[in-house]
Amino acid sequence: MRCTKAVIYKDNLKYNLEQIRRHVRPKTEICVAVKADSYGHSAVLTAKTAHEVGGINYFAVATVDEGIELREDGITENIIVLSLCVPEEFDSLFSYSLTPFTFGEDYISALSEAADKFFKKDEKFPVFLAVDTGMGRIGCYPDEAGNEAKLIEQSAHLHLKGMASHFCESDSVTTECQNFTHLQYEEFCRAVENVQAKGINPGICSIGNSAAIMNNHDMYFDMVRPGIITYGYYPDQITKEYLQSRHEDFDIKPVMALETQIVAIRHFPKGKSVSYGRTYFCEDETDIAVLPVGYADGLLRRFSPGLEVTINGKKYPVCGRICMDQCMVNIGKDNPEVHLWDKAIIFGPEESGALTTADDLAKTGGTISYEVLTSIGKRVKRIVK
Ligand SMILES: *Cc1c(COP(=O)(O)O)cnc(C)c1O
Repeated sequence: MRCTKAVIYKDNLKYNLEQIRRHVRPKTEICVAVKADSYGHSAVLTAKTAHEVGGINYFAVATVDEGIELREDGITENIIVLSLCVPEEFDSLFSYSLTPFTFGEDYISALSEAADKFFKKDEKFPVFLAVDTGMGRIGCYPDEAGNEAKLIEQSAHLHLKGMASHFCESDSVTTECQNFTHLQYEEFCRAVENVQAKGINPGICSIGNSAAIMNNHDMYFDMVRPGIITYGYYPDQITKEYLQSRHEDFDIKPVMALETQIVAIRHFPKGKSVSYGRTYFCEDETDIAVLPVGYADGLLRRFSPGLEVTINGKKYPVCGRICMDQCMVNIGKDNPEVHLWDKAIIFGPEESGALTTADDLAKTGGTISYEVLTSIGKRVKRIVK
């Protein structure tokens, strides 16, 4: 088996799900975002682990295909499809019982027509109405929510199961950003009221992502949608220290470790250049370890310079450009602590022995943990520990 692998610490995943279930009021439904194969961690594993934890009745995927994969692996909980799809996919939504986000007259009409063809007389297909309260992505404006809900309810085979919106700045703790989050909350309330004013039950209302679960307890409504915290990372400015300063005892642990092994140790003279573009020159005589992991595995090119990997409890810098399938690490001359075949950990939880997390890589690469995790390629086998 290839030595470059993503080890998934199932106990940590379970721990995080338990933390979320404990943190959120018992009456509040939890919809775990398992899109993009659970941010690279395996959606099926996450769904099954959530099932073991109990009290988690919804999963959110981005695409119809992701929903189908869960169904084919025997997941029976509610599955919500967060992104829009095209009419060619509508029948799959129906046959796999996937609950879509919808909005817009044209979209709802097309879905309604497809449902008319698919369903028998008294059958109703549940959908969520998406509302744009400030994200500037999908959703109707709050003012339109009443009419759009009416369109859904008037359709012979559609039924308004719930309403949802999405925060765009809830991960920032500055006053300005939190003010915008409050504004979005108020806009969502207004949308819900518009629907109620038409005599329609808005159903399950949901706006909270990971950041809002941590930071905005009054904005849970009926269901929250945790993503990144499930996989052990805090959203942007909401750190463990910040939460502790607010007397919140919430703890999560990273779930994935990206590991590989040293496949060569080379002796380089002073001044020798390393990798494409000759951006790195050895300042002195040194030994360079070669790792069989590169940007095709998700180790983004922009992580170097800056990236450090852990070998036997110490950090060593990646030097020169990261290649498609390999990268080089400066381990220092005649280092007695580093040997051929030793394990090198790119990032991971404490349990893995890693001294860096996906947040450290994100900082180095000017991105967020979400992108680091979802970039880990298909070629990297996931091993459940
Ligand atoms: C991805 C996503 C979430 C989860 O976001 P996190 O920041 O990872 O908690 C929730 N809702 C929607 C609509 C999403 O697209």
